[in-house]
Amino acid sequence: MAGDRTTRPHKPRRKFIIVPELPEVETIVRGLNKKVVGLKILDAWTDWSKMIKTHALKGFISDVRHRKILRARRRAKYIMIDLSGNKTLLIHQKISGHLLYGKWEIENNKPVTTMEGPIKSDPQNRFVRFILYLDDGYMLGLSDLRRFGKVLLVDTVKIGEIKEIKKLGPEPLDKNFTLKKFRELMTKKRGVIKKVLMDQFVISGIGNIYSDEILWYAGIHPLKRVEKLNDKELAVIYKYIRFVLKKAVGALGDSEQDYRTLEGKMGSYQNKKKAYHLTGEKCQKHDGGIIKRIKINSRSAHFCPVHQRL
Ligand SMILES: [Zn+2]
Repeated sequence: MAGDRTTRPHKPRRKFIIVPELPEVETIVRGLNKKVVGLKILDAWTDWSKMIKTHALKGFISDVRHRKILRARRRAKYIMIDLSGNKTLLIHQKISGHLLYGKWEIENNKPVTTMEGPIKSDPQNRFVRFILYLDDGYMLGLSDLRRFGKVLLVDTVKIGEIKEIKKLGPEPLDKNFTLKKFRELMTKKRGVIKKVLMDQFVISGIGNIYSDEILWYAGIHPLKRVEKLNDKELAVIYKYIRFVLKKAVGALGDSEQDYRTLEGKMGSYQNKKKAYHLTGEKCQKHDGGIIKRIKINSRSAHFCPVHQRL
């Protein structure tokens, strides 16, 4: 079932890119725990073997085959699937990747779904580059338009040592992530709050969407410097980090662009947004503000100039 295509097809250009963050990855992980725990992996296929970072395709297939899926978990933006025999499959969906639970047949080295529903009808689900065959007749497929997704197969006990995981900051939804801990992290940092919130080595899992949303709720300007934030401001940012991330997990993530749930369905956070990509719209606090977009290096920030002042 192995195949490899070495040329990249033309990809559509977009003005902006939305990358999966903690809520999108968490939604996939919860879906995996419902659907695939206890199943055995029978085989694997890809047309883009470069996405497998730890093995050549043949070696990957022989190493992953016959292993049972024990559980799925998340660390930052990584999906971790623990397998029998002390191995863990790490999947980073990167820019446009999302994992699907469905059925496909390979026709001319291209997966074609045999299912009805969103996996077939939604164009965002049509870029399956990597498949794990499961013993319930279903498959896990990684749809990844831009081919930046990464797959690693590593020893479970060594996960904490691999470079992608080693230096990550704490998980913001963990019970150990207290206000005290957040204050300690912030007092060690300098720079603009938007960038600090997005720094994976400070806090894990927050990117462009949710940093804008957190700061809108907290009433803090994205360019405010961390070292200038007082105790009250830090407490309110902390509160809304947890509030926004939980709200977005509850909404099954943001599907404005590529991301879909494990069943190929859309999340709904894009309908609940307060700031991100709402440039020119009235602030939902009805304070007369119009959401503004500014550049911070190569990234953008969206905020209300009325209730988020510098
Ligand atoms: Zn406002």
